[in-house]
Amino acid sequence: MKEGKAMGASLEDRFDVAIVGSGIVGLGAAYAAVRRGLRVVVVDRTERPVGATIRNFGHLCIGAQDGAARRYGEASRSIWLRLAADAGFWARESGTLVVARAEDELALLEEAAHAEAARGASGIRLLTAAEITAQAPVRAEVARGGAHVAGDLQVNPREAAGAIVRHLAARGVEFRFRTSVAAVRTGLVQTTRGDIAASDVVVAVNHDLDQLLPEVAERAGVIRCALDMMRVSAELRLPLPAPLLTGWSLVRYRRFAELGTASALRERLYAERPELAALDLNQMYTQLPDGTLLLGDSHHRAVQPDPFQPEAAFDAYLAEAEALFDIRGIRIRERWQGVYAAASGEFLVEEVAPRVLALAATTGIGMTTGLGLAEIETSRVFGWGGGAAGAASASGPAVVAVPAGPAGAAGSAALHASAGSIGGETTAAEGGTAQEEDA
Ligand SMILES: Cc1cc2nc3c(=O)[nH]c(=O)nc-3n(C[C@H](O)[C@H](O)[C@H](O)COP(=O)(O)OP(=O)(O)OC[C@H]3O[C@@H](n4cnc5c(N)ncnc54)[C@H](O)[C@@H]3O)c2cc1C
Repeated sequence: MKEGKAMGASLEDRFDVAIVGSGIVGLGAAYAAVRRGLRVVVVDRTERPVGATIRNFGHLCIGAQDGAARRYGEASRSIWLRLAADAGFWARESGTLVVARAEDELALLEEAAHAEAARGASGIRLLTAAEITAQAPVRAEVARGGAHVAGDLQVNPREAAGAIVRHLAARGVEFRFRTSVAAVRTGLVQTTRGDIAASDVVVAVNHDLDQLLPEVAERAGVIRCALDMMRVSAELRLPLPAPLLTGWSLVRYRRFAELGTASALRERLYAERPELAALDLNQMYTQLPDGTLLLGDSHHRAVQPDPFQPEAAFDAYLAEAEALFDIRGIRIRERWQGVYAAASGEFLVEEVAPRVLALAATTGIGMTTGLGLAEIETSRVFGWGGGAAGAASASGPAVVAVPAGPAGAAGSAALHASAGSIGGETTAAEGGTAQEEDA
């Protein structure tokens, strides 16, 4: 991997595709392009991926999505599994566990399971209190029941992006790290190490869209959402076999949050625990392969959030973990802040100039959806088609959500992936209201 050329390298660098950003969205675009035999360069100002893509829970939460996010998520699922096998990183088909600690949480899970069954699907399976405590180290005295959401995956975000970079580099993708992009336009990427010529340009810079393409970001209302996270070691009665969500998650995840009983649950949680509501808490957990637990998370939205992390959030994470789990000897290993792009729609998909495509997940579901978003939208906008090497036949119709803008104006060809198949037609639709799913 090169770190970049000397200033003034001018137009001697020519590629089919130049991608700005080496997070999961940029890597997804690079993977889509290289599988089609295109010559690809990825430019990132950091020395390796260190953005939101390595700072999250690694929870690929597909079953709780709806609409475009569900379709991008399902496309992502098969790409994640293929990449994990090919690039050699840890991924497990764990599904997701949800613990209900009150009757209204159980009622919401039941409503979701019935809605799922009414669709003819069986993705949400209700669990008794005995079943959830047998599967996860939650305290018997707090568990009222729970659910298992099928189809979801878990990866270790700290290793996945690096492994994908190495895999793509081995397939011929050129990475230029420690190289900032100052401007993009049709056919050209201007970097701090000289210009790059490329037929197609993808901008996948997450919340920093407001620095590279300020008008686009402002029009779409993109701001930042900052989250406090913690990693601890501890003795648990059992390992956590899947990401674990709580009632605080249910009121955020669209599949659950839009159901009839969700409003009353939200009101009850917010009234009973105003200090947690003030953190905009999503109480959830994942366990990394080394046994440590990720605890989170809070949400603070602003154009430029403060870098200062209030200790109240970390105190709450520790107290809530002790109340929920059979756990001993908690030791804090790390704290960090992660930031993602936030807007009123779930995704930003815009062809900002001919053959210059800006892509972002504008809520906290980029790990779940980013690979599919990149696969589907690069193909649709650039007309790369479904003939990707390693991809198979066309599947059914898909609807993608895009904000108002040139790329979203009309339906056109797109890819829709399900396990082992990529291809199909798509029509454009309005993006939904943002949900926060990291979430
Ligand atoms: C704490 C936290 C927990 C989360 N948990 C989950 C979860 O469990 N599941 C889930 O689905 N999602 C989760 N998310 C959301 C998810 O992590 C993000 O949506 C996703 O990683 C965004 O990917 P990205 O590629 O757009 O951005 P990033 O990974 O941030 O990558 C953007 C890259 O662009 C580069 N860049 C920016 N500007 C320039 C420039 N001018 N020149 C060169 N390079 C530039 C940056 O250096 C960076 O490497 C979470 C997010 C956070 C913060």
